Amino acid sequence: MVSRTERYFLDLFLASSLPVAAERAAESVKIKFCSDPSALPVDVFNLAQANGLKICQDLPERGATDAVLIPRKHGYLVRLRRDVPTGRKRFSLAHELGHTFFYRDNGQGPRHAIGILDRTEHEAEERACDHFAGFLLMPIDRIRERFHGLAGDQPSEFLRRCDSACLDFLVSKEAFIRHAGRANIDGPPYLVVRSSFRPNPRTKEDPDLRTDWFATVGGWRRSGHVSTHHRLWPIGLKSACQLYHEWSATKTRGVFALDGLGHLVHSPADLCSCREDLSISINLDNKWRLTRQTYISANCLYTWDNAEGSTEAYVISVAAPTGGDAV
Ligand SMILES: [Zn+2]
Repeated sequence: MVSRTERYFLDLFLASSLPVAAERAAESVKIKFCSDPSALPVDVFNLAQANGLKICQDLPERGATDAVLIPRKHGYLVRLRRDVPTGRKRFSLAHELGHTFFYRDNGQGPRHAIGILDRTEHEAEERACDHFAGFLLMPIDRIRERFHGLAGDQPSEFLRRCDSACLDFLVSKEAFIRHAGRANIDGPPYLVVRSSFRPNPRTKEDPDLRTDWFATVGGWRRSGHVSTHHRLWPIGLKSACQLYHEWSATKTRGVFALDGLGHLVHSPADLCSCREDLSISINLDNKWRLTRQTYISANCLYTWDNAEGSTEAYVISVAAPTGGDAV
């Protein structure tokens, strides 16, 4: 059943689905306030201010909240965390701009259009705002251009194009991959997994390379799933584990991959691909089944400095099922 929030948003943009409504919402903002709506990266700070948002970067550093929208008598205040990477901050601001569609102003300041929200309504609004932020910062035709002509056995090329797209759109890898994943792009199926070295969050023990998030992009006939916090080794992404292991002996900053001999390479011009048997849950006839299949995978490791000043890393793995689709 469609929630009241979703119905409201669909009606607002005469759309039949959430992504279509969000895309129309993003276009409406750009047409109204951008001198060149096709320019990249989208100047989201300027757009937000033109829409009546006053921006303050004063939320507590390292706090749990990245951004918050506060309706005021005349317009809105958006409070942001200063200490987050630019791409993440831009997405948060675009997301908060999306929330303004759920307010109406009859001259006495913005009032929420739906009223008191329960969890379902709240989650529907969050989903709509994530979609809106994605379409605002990453127009779908420009994403399609990025993946044009990509073959199914080129996870390294996929990863290279993702990196270059994130720089052009000025967004985080997670925002880009998730948006591309939701956009039903025609093309070969790819599984993308981000992992980092950390303990089991429940037991606080057993530190290992674990999944932070996953997404599927391209033409999957059946949906695949990888659990969050899962250890990478049992999934079969052993090349990613080996990459992290080699890097952890140096802990230097930069972008790294392994060459064909298993040596760590700094700022690799090309990424090596390898064949690995992966255990992935696949939805077959509405039932999740653990499948084991050969994938071609490529990995890249990226570093960042934490608040204490030590260098940490995460790995992005891209895997494509051999034979064109998951079994
Ligand atoms: Zn939100």
